[in-house]
Amino acid sequence: MMSKAIWLLVAGATLLTAETRVFQGFTLIDGTGKAPLADAAMVITDGRITYVGPKKSMKLPAGKPEVIELAGKYVIPGLINLHCHLGNTKRMAQDPKNFTRENVNDQLKTYAKNGVTAVLSMGSDQPVIFDMRAEQRAGRPSLPRIYTAGRGFTGKNGYPTMAQGMKGVPYEVTTEQQVIDAVKTEAGHKVDMLKIWVDDHLGKEVKIPANLSAAIIREGKKYGIPTSAHIFYLSDAKQLVAAGLHGLGHSIRDVPVDDELIKLMKQKGAWLSATTLTREYSVFTYAKGAKWADDPWFVRSVDPADRDTIKSPAYKQKMAAADPHWPRYENEFIETAKKNLKKLADAGVKFGFGTDTGPPARFPGYFEHLEMEFMADAGLTPAQIIGAATKSSSEFLGVSKDMGTLERGKWADFVILGKNPLENIKNTRSVEQTWVAGNRAF
Ligand SMILES: [Zn+2]
Repeated sequence: MMSKAIWLLVAGATLLTAETRVFQGFTLIDGTGKAPLADAAMVITDGRITYVGPKKSMKLPAGKPEVIELAGKYVIPGLINLHCHLGNTKRMAQDPKNFTRENVNDQLKTYAKNGVTAVLSMGSDQPVIFDMRAEQRAGRPSLPRIYTAGRGFTGKNGYPTMAQGMKGVPYEVTTEQQVIDAVKTEAGHKVDMLKIWVDDHLGKEVKIPANLSAAIIREGKKYGIPTSAHIFYLSDAKQLVAAGLHGLGHSIRDVPVDDELIKLMKQKGAWLSATTLTREYSVFTYAKGAKWADDPWFVRSVDPADRDTIKSPAYKQKMAAADPHWPRYENEFIETAKKNLKKLADAGVKFGFGTDTGPPARFPGYFEHLEMEFMADAGLTPAQIIGAATKSSSEFLGVSKDMGTLERGKWADFVILGKNPLENIKNTRSVEQTWVAGNRAF
């Protein structure tokens, strides 16, 4: 699609023929929280930002670069999803056999179509993911960047190994020695994060014992690898944060968060890394009949056969039977999760952006934009939500010197929107183009 930088040897001297593009005339929302800048320009050379600021202060680079006029458009940093599951689901079925390069790439394309430029896949990956990540990091990716927690951890027969297609996906540990060995294996793969599932699913399933969770966090720290956890209960969140957990990968959903947790999270620098409000939504919305399935924004990223499935009376019945607690997710858990997000945000606890998309009927793409809408329902401003999904999420991953905001020196990972997302967060759905490392990803 576009020429790569080429080295030319001229009379013994080495000249770099850089790939340079100029985007101009747009309103810049750079992710730092600064006021938007009208009539902005951004110069990108070999995938990195070499100038961003007022168009009138830009010096047009030499060599007649391509100039892209973006009058009336809005540019934001690419969205970073800190909780997804790549590869395992195809059509509406979850099965480790689905985990292929092609399936992962298809999902990354859907994320790109929806303005996502980086994802953290949370503990259900297979070794090919490390090859794909290495290829991306060796050059300039043209699809969303992969971050991975490799293979996550639960206890023997623990949650979520009883879910369809999840047996054998996470480690099921029973002893500290098994933890030590498995963390060493994951560290050998240079995973970006460790993942633990800490839940009994309302008493229905087996929760990993606290001493083993603490051992995973402790062993990860030996290799400099942070740990994130699936949690549901406030009591588990406190225990894990006290043990040194980096991120809560879901909102706390059982009871309101309290000052003890807030104090602990701030003191330890722990994050609410992903709010996953759409995960709760997915438990009840299909059981009620997904009336939104004809929303054009949904239609554009979903296989028509899957859409027919979720609209069918049989699926509605199946989903209602699958979890008899589903009305509690609508009336209780998602509401508690929203209030807890607002309370943690107001208290100054750090929070990122994540949806738990990837498993069946948690559709990559559409759910990211729905998540932002739900975060707004929780009382956050569009600027807070964009900040969470860009700058803050890059900080959580420890990659903020390279991405997360649109500033000089960083990778050009950005999204061009047709409408102003600061006016209404639903305007993030006006994605027209997505760029990763200066390459057109969508
Ligand atoms: Zn998950």
